Amino acid sequence: MRTKTAFFNRTRFIIGNGGNTRFWEDTWLGPQPLALQYPQLYNIAQRKQTSVATVLRHIPLNIQFRRALFGNRWVSWLHLVRRLMDINLSDLPDTIRWKLTTNGTFSVKSMYEHIINTLPIPKSMHIWKVKVPLKIKIFMWFVHKGVILTKDNLAKRNWKGNKRCSFCQTHETIKHLFLECPMAKLLWRSLQISFNIEPPTSIHMLFGTWLNGVNVLFAKLIRVGTCAMRWAIWNCRNDLAFNRLNYINFLQVIFRATASIRTWSLLTPMETREPLVTGCVRWEMVAQVIFNRYGWRHANRIGL
Ligand SMILES: [Zn+2]
Repeated sequence: MRTKTAFFNRTRFIIGNGGNTRFWEDTWLGPQPLALQYPQLYNIAQRKQTSVATVLRHIPLNIQFRRALFGNRWVSWLHLVRRLMDINLSDLPDTIRWKLTTNGTFSVKSMYEHIINTLPIPKSMHIWKVKVPLKIKIFMWFVHKGVILTKDNLAKRNWKGNKRCSFCQTHETIKHLFLECPMAKLLWRSLQISFNIEPPTSIHMLFGTWLNGVNVLFAKLIRVGTCAMRWAIWNCRNDLAFNRLNYINFLQVIFRATASIRTWSLLTPMETREPLVTGCVRWEMVAQVIFNRYGWRHANRIGL
């Protein structure tokens, strides 16, 4: 319930069919999740992740407790049931409203401020110092916390789509998408060839000790580059999964990444701007050499 659901704790669900809203742990009835409004009931509830639809689509309500309801628990239960009687499910999907802005529209700024003000974030973390746009920092923070909506996380929220990676058909997790997928490995390998940087072996390492001992200025540049690379992987993956694009090759991912780096370089001081741009050119050249030499079978040829 804590950092794992950072995003959803700041959202409010408007109930349609109730299929994508968690009965206890999302905010949909009243100002807080029911788990916080009725802790005595939540503590003894079976299936804490159950959806609103699962509970309300049955008469009597499809909800079980591990203990009998007596005393205060019984009073709480009656109170809750009375409120549930006013809920009418429809055939429309549930929608999400953002609690932190008055108009309910998601804004990165409100999210950022809320995170900064309410959660114990280690301020020393590299994420917040990298010279990239705020929404990218927040995305990286979600990656670090393991809460971006990769297909394994979507499936936990009752998503029924195909759980396979859009690049390689293996089960999609955060670690797979950014480190272990053949696409990710090839991208990291191209960075390694270009800049002599050993790829990280875990998400924890990526946000932690990776680049320890590397020249500080160089590490700054690499962090901007790998943010852009992860952002490009994520966007290409979304295009494949949700925008009906059929195929993306690794050169396209790299060109998306270098386009971001060139834009973001304007956020950095003059002395880092030029190395960022020349770094892009170098990375693109190496990628093209790999691609020209090995073509579509590149993944088999450079030791992946
Ligand atoms: Zn994959």
